[in-house]
Amino acid sequence: MSFEVETHKVLFSTSEKDEVKNLTKEIQKKVKESDVNDGICLLFAPHATGVLILNEDEGGIKDDYLKGLYELAPEDNNWNHDRIDNNAHSHVKSAIVGTDRVVPITEGSLDLGTWQDVFFVETDGPRSERRIILKLMGKA
Ligand code: ZN
Repeated sequence: MSFEVETHKVLFSTSEKDEVKNLTKEIQKKVKESDVNDGICLLFAPHATGVLILNEDEGGIKDDYLKGLYELAPEDNNWNHDRIDNNAHSHVKSAIVGTDRVVPITEGSLDLGTWQDVFFVETDGPRSERRIILKLMGKA
């Protein structure tokens, strides 16, 4: 038995100001191609104006994620940071919801629930260079 640690990246762009981007297939592919069979996958988006969530891929609820985030941090709220670059609401969404998740790896693949997918939620797009860092750790 050997203990494996692997680092991978999923690179992507976003095309809208606000966008819910499903990255499950790309991430699952990296996990399946890795040598980690039983362990954990840390997902980390190194961005200050994006959000990482696990939830259902359905058109209505995807719009609702954006609606919920908007209600959490409306754009027009007299934010202090808007004096600098006018995207305080994006930072606040990212700060509150977070940019990291941990998913179990079982039998060589992400052990997600039936109604769970991995989404990067863009809150300050469009952006040409976004990425998710994957840290895979566990038994081969
Ligand atoms: Zn900013």
